[in-house]
Amino acid sequence: MIRKVVSGQWSVLKKCILFTVSCPLLTTYYLLPSTLFMGCVTLTPDQIPSETSQKITQTSFQDLDPGAYEEQSLHFKVKAYGAEKARAISRAVEEDYNRIMQDTGLYSFIPRGLYGITVYSNREEYLKKTGQAEWSGGVAVGNAIYSFESPYLNGTLAHEMTHLIFYEFMGNTSQNLRWLNEGLAMYEEYQAGTSHSLSDNLVPIPFSQMVNLVPATERERLVGQWYHQVKEVVQFMVEQGGRLGFSIFLNQLRSGESFNQALSLGFPGLWSDIGALEKSWLLSKGL
Ligand SMILES: [Zn+2]
Repeated sequence: MIRKVVSGQWSVLKKCILFTVSCPLLTTYYLLPSTLFMGCVTLTPDQIPSETSQKITQTSFQDLDPGAYEEQSLHFKVKAYGAEKARAISRAVEEDYNRIMQDTGLYSFIPRGLYGITVYSNREEYLKKTGQAEWSGGVAVGNAIYSFESPYLNGTLAHEMTHLIFYEFMGNTSQNLRWLNEGLAMYEEYQAGTSHSLSDNLVPIPFSQMVNLVPATERERLVGQWYHQVKEVVQFMVEQGGRLGFSIFLNQLRSGESFNQALSLGFPGLWSDIGALEKSWLLSKGL
């Protein structure tokens, strides 16, 4: 049984239905022991636990043990062991959420419901109850995130939260924007202050490859470079191009504009196409 502590403006329990499973909406957040690099891969529909289909997201994986607390806030329903811990996580994820909204300028975005966050006590409980791979640090399915207590928790939650918001806001368009989605998630994780180390040296990957690369395995070194670069590029776009421009850019992409058209509309006078963006970014890095 979960003890419930309700706070925030909205105290009404909302049940959040999964997005369709045909949309590969389950991402796992991996910790790679060899390089201390983490990656996030999207699982195909057949890899998504069948019991999640058409059911409430929060029941996708086994719940916390009896005695856990539930803290409800404006955008989240956090389950954790200990009332104070649940409240602290709740405060942190609301801060993450607000920062993501500021960075993306998506102030008009209204989630369909509360995002569920389940924080297991440790890696052992997480692995046992979610069945994720040994190196997994967190998993997002539907509109819920599962992770465990660790020094990296807030970064993991910020990362996966970004994916959920991106999927929900961008809809089907998100499937072709893997690099942008991942770059934004990495950027938000970095800002959460508890991110993992990125690869030391940034060896630029040509943008023509960067936008098409879908890492097949997170173990390859190139993937580490790719995650590092997409984070840097998104950070550059947001901080140098401006958050208002980034918001316009996202909205144009969502409405079906081409990448170059969205770029030129979002950042007029700055970047007319991806080639201009690449050149500008390389210059900023002294490369
Ligand atoms: Zn990711």
